[in-house]
Amino acid sequence: MTSTTMTSTTMAQPTQYRLHAYPESVVTADTWRVTHDPLPELAPGQIQVRLKHLSLDPGMRGWITPKRSYMPPVRPGEVMRAFGVGEVTASASDFFQPGDHVTGFTGIQTEAVLDGRHMRKIDLAFAPARSYLTSAGMTAFTAYFGLLDVGKPKAGETVVVSAAAGAVGSIVCQIAKHQGCRVIGIAGGAAKCAYLTETLGLDAAIDYKAGPVDAALRQAAPGGVDLYFDNVGGDILDAVLMQINYRARVVVCGGISQYLDMGQVRGPANYLQIIAQSATLQGFTMRDYLDRIPEAFVALLTWHSNGKLKVREHVLQGIDAFPAGLQMLFAGDNHGKLVIDL
Ligand code: NDP
Repeated sequence: MTSTTMTSTTMAQPTQYRLHAYPESVVTADTWRVTHDPLPELAPGQIQVRLKHLSLDPGMRGWITPKRSYMPPVRPGEVMRAFGVGEVTASASDFFQPGDHVTGFTGIQTEAVLDGRHMRKIDLAFAPARSYLTSAGMTAFTAYFGLLDVGKPKAGETVVVSAAAGAVGSIVCQIAKHQGCRVIGIAGGAAKCAYLTETLGLDAAIDYKAGPVDAALRQAAPGGVDLYFDNVGGDILDAVLMQINYRARVVVCGGISQYLDMGQVRGPANYLQIIAQSATLQGFTMRDYLDRIPEAFVALLTWHSNGKLKVREHVLQGIDAFPAGLQMLFAGDNHGKLVIDL
């Protein structure tokens, strides 16, 4: 029988960030509406959750674009979609008790009533709550499967990663080093490039804001590129395509350079190199790997606890950091996985 159990904690008014209008390009003040709607009564199977950490992701820009994608867009009036971690404060589900911690799509809100079937229980004995969005969360799983399963790196190969100092990219770079590859990161600015070579031990880093990528890549990878893990698309993808080797793999993880103009997305001009080099260009989303999360979780946690995986967390405070925080991803102002602590 399903029962409802409540904790005695009294909460401030809940806060929700709702989509008001689809943005044309950059997100503006008019994109969001803040509401303080009371939580609904729990229906059978639902849980009430007090959110502790929210994840800010470039993919959010796609979720507020009314165009075909891997999941339907958020509709105006709905709470903005986001991954989060929180504590169960009341439960009408047989599978969750108050005090349990959960992760999943929680939305940009401080408290929520969620369908227990869509939430994953997490164990804080393995990792702190915030880590389930950073070193042991969807971003890290994306890096793990995108590189190992889609890219299939081999020892001795040259791997190039864009947005290399970011959340997905920095983990991809480190796993590629574990595989015995020569790894070159592309990132914006001297500080991020220094982080890649000095802290993460990459073989070379290219500051794409300092000069043309093709010349720098020719110098850093004179033998060409065997595997390119693409997070940005656009000009950088085109530059790398011109230097891929025979049977190279191009893993299309993201295309952030295109996300602010989704009506005019520009494909790679140099795609004929895929034919010339008998290469593959393959996209993927984490949705393809949901049933293999435990495998990635154990591997990432083990590397992290052995000091073989460094994960930078860029932590913002309070739900009202959301609108400006989202913009930071597109300006390159984040240094590591961007999250909000509530
Ligand atoms: P990051 O932490 O890497 O942050 C985004 C970074 O992108 C910025 O810091 C900036 O770094 C870089 N960037 C922004 N605009 C541009 C531009 N115009 N040209 C080049 N670089 C730019 O974010 P994530 O690690 O969370 O995401 C990285 C990519 O992975 C995104 O494209 C995202 O959509 C994708 N992704 C895909 C998933 C999947 O399942 N396929 C799942 C999760 C993420 P810099 O300062 O170096 O410019």
